[in-house]
Amino acid sequence: MNLPKQYRCIHSTNCSCTKGHLNEDAIFLLFQHLNWNPKLIAAFSCACKWFDDIAKRVLWKEFCKARAPKMMLDLQYSGSHIVDGNWRALGKLLIYCSGSTKGGLFNGIHIPGHFAHTTRFSRTSGKSFLLRQCRTDVLYVSDPCEHLDQGEEGDVGFFRGIFKSFATSKVRKMLIKRGAQFHTTEVCPYCKAKLWNMLQAKMIPQSASCRLDAYEDCVEYYVCLNGHMLGICSLMPLSDSEEADDAE
Ligand SMILES: [Zn+2]
Ligand SMILES: [Zn+2]
Repeated sequence: MNLPKQYRCIHSTNCSCTKGHLNEDAIFLLFQHLNWNPKLIAAFSCACKWFDDIAKRVLWKEFCKARAPKMMLDLQYSGSHIVDGNWRALGKLLIYCSGSTKGGLFNGIHIPGHFAHTTRFSRTSGKSFLLRQCRTDVLYVSDPCEHLDQGEEGDVGFFRGIFKSFATSKVRKMLIKRGAQFHTTEVCPYCKAKLWNMLQAKMIPQSASCRLDAYEDCVEYYVCLNGHMLGICSLMPLSDSEEADDAE
């Protein structure tokens, strides 16, 4: 598109396009029509600070509500403020498997992040990731995103999730009581907050590996200060887990 200079939006830090913007209502209608296309929202956000502001306040919120209506209703219920101001992070969490870089959060594993459009999040699954004494907390967790045949690592699964009202959760209280450590270098890929190591805090129950079809003691996850969780596990080959089912 060849727009006159005054209509162009060049750079996010010194966006000089004070004239020629569409108004907010038009942007809303346009993106509603585009079904809140997350790639477009992200792309325009990078290019224009004015747009980025609307995206953070409005578009990501609508995106989340369209993608996971029941979950969003629950997360916002009874004055939970976890989502407020963090719609972009939550939007990204819904559709982006963060993977892991070498020397990153999950040692030695190098699997690039990628879009994952059809991920399902479940509150029932979330229970399996909580110690018995924390099971009144509400945690939504995704099905594992499977990355098969990763050399020595075998079959790797990434999962992610979010706590409702993390600020007042039992998990958070327990992490603080146990003096859990933050990861020294890595931050949450969704909101850039510091990450607590749940494995180090001995807060990963056995039920997590069952839920994931992963090997026991091969589940690891982190929770950030805003209540996003992300984890990794070694998945059992399908035949093994079928045998395990038969044995039950
Ligand atoms: Zn993935
Ligand atoms: Zn986070």
